[in-house]
Amino acid sequence: MPKVLVIGLDGATWQLFRPWASAGRLPRLAALMQRGTWGPLRSTIPPLTLPAWSSLMTGRNPGGHGIYAFWRLGTHRYEPGPIANASDLRAPTIFDVAGRADRRVGVVNVPPSYPIRPVNGFVVSCMLTPPGERFTDPPEVASELGDYQIDVRAPDGLRNDPKVFAEKGLGFLEALRLQTRRRADAVLRLTERRPIDLLGVVFYAPDRIQHFFWEFLGDEARLDEQGRSIRAACDAVYRELDAAVGRLVDAAGPDATVLVASDHGFTSKPARSIRINRWLADNGLLQARPLWQLRRKIAKRAFPSGWRARYDRFEATVNPARTQAWADRIETTTAAIWVHAKDRYPLGCVSPGAEYEAVRTQIVEGLQALRDEQGLPVFRRVYRREDLYRGPFVENAPDLIGVSTERYGLVYGSLRRDLRARGLFGPWHELGYTGTHSPEGLYLLAGPPVRALGEHREYPIESIAPTALHLLDVPIPPQMEAPVITSALDEGYLREHPIRVAEDTGDDVAAAPDWKSQEDEAKIADHLRALGYLE
Ligand SMILES: [Zn+2]
Repeated sequence: MPKVLVIGLDGATWQLFRPWASAGRLPRLAALMQRGTWGPLRSTIPPLTLPAWSSLMTGRNPGGHGIYAFWRLGTHRYEPGPIANASDLRAPTIFDVAGRADRRVGVVNVPPSYPIRPVNGFVVSCMLTPPGERFTDPPEVASELGDYQIDVRAPDGLRNDPKVFAEKGLGFLEALRLQTRRRADAVLRLTERRPIDLLGVVFYAPDRIQHFFWEFLGDEARLDEQGRSIRAACDAVYRELDAAVGRLVDAAGPDATVLVASDHGFTSKPARSIRINRWLADNGLLQARPLWQLRRKIAKRAFPSGWRARYDRFEATVNPARTQAWADRIETTTAAIWVHAKDRYPLGCVSPGAEYEAVRTQIVEGLQALRDEQGLPVFRRVYRREDLYRGPFVENAPDLIGVSTERYGLVYGSLRRDLRARGLFGPWHELGYTGTHSPEGLYLLAGPPVRALGEHREYPIESIAPTALHLLDVPIPPQMEAPVITSALDEGYLREHPIRVAEDTGDDVAAAPDWKSQEDEAKIADHLRALGYLE
């Protein structure tokens, strides 16, 4: 069994796990907390599954690995690009680095891992795998997995119809429980047959539950009968997850070190939406075309769909010559703000240099000073991309990244939706979600080299990768940005195992193949839409 286990719990948060562990509901995690060190893990901006796991597994921020969202951001086009996949991850992961140092590795469901980049060991790919495509390497691993499911699709319209919500919800939760058990079964079966030094596995269930059922996870006394039955089904999934962690730890034996981590935390959905494009228009930075809505409406009735799409385009909605900036949503509380730069866009109107900087400064200062009717700030912070990201892919990032306060969220299709409304603020209702991502994930370390410090300080998500490599006695690539979590490690162990930094061998990441076809990409887009990650 592996010497180091990285167990990913998508979306897990201490806000839920800490009280549940104290109350005896998560006995296996509680035991690890007791003998280990744990605390908050600061996610990426945006705190979103794909960029966050990428940072966790590469030790780099999105500017260092290239993935910012579920789709390819377009710094040269007006519409979002295709769905991002493993070919967009342009930095080596801990599995690549450990494999090159002759460690055997097993990777199960770590996003993004489709199309598959082979490792020195085995890979089972992630939720980006189109149905019917090969999802393991070597291929024969698939037949050893047993009854295995990569992901569970959320039922269509789960929260839209109260009459079917309980029935659909209970079915979905039971499917998540089974998926969790089968994932643990499969990992145990694989690691028994195929010895490895490093295991990476991600369980999706907490993220799915917390998006759709957040309001049932708090105080049980407030729930009605139906609420209590949903809560009981949620609890059953978390118990299964706790048992899965316990089974993996037991199988690895007392000499193994375990790192439990989440890619982001969770919180309740925002109450209101902020219409950034309305703000840009009100401040002279964006001009809507006169009658754009009317023309679009007529086109929708009169023309076939191919023609209709023309009326959805950027230049049909705004006057490009008088639009210096526009915004879109990357994640609920993270806005991408693009400057219409002449050197990047075919219809661009902002000159590089002083004019570009003046536009950015006006937006940063304006949005940071923006207050709602109660005088409360709407944005925590608006960043220039180079202040937030470092590395070779900073140029793919939006010109500005706005992070809203918890009360405010962005909506999909922000350009048209924002401009349709007159006011700056509106209600936030989207997809029937009740929970949304927060930047505070969790980490938990336990094992022979780990001190029993209990609750401990915050670390950035980029700390997990170098820590995992150090625990494997593998030198750490100099491009990994964050420190090893040494404050949690035993001093004697650190004396015997000083941190070793590898020679800089550059980023020789083998180019992974892209989507095989547009149909494959469309299937994944459809799947992500059901989960609420796309419009
Ligand atoms: Zn996630």
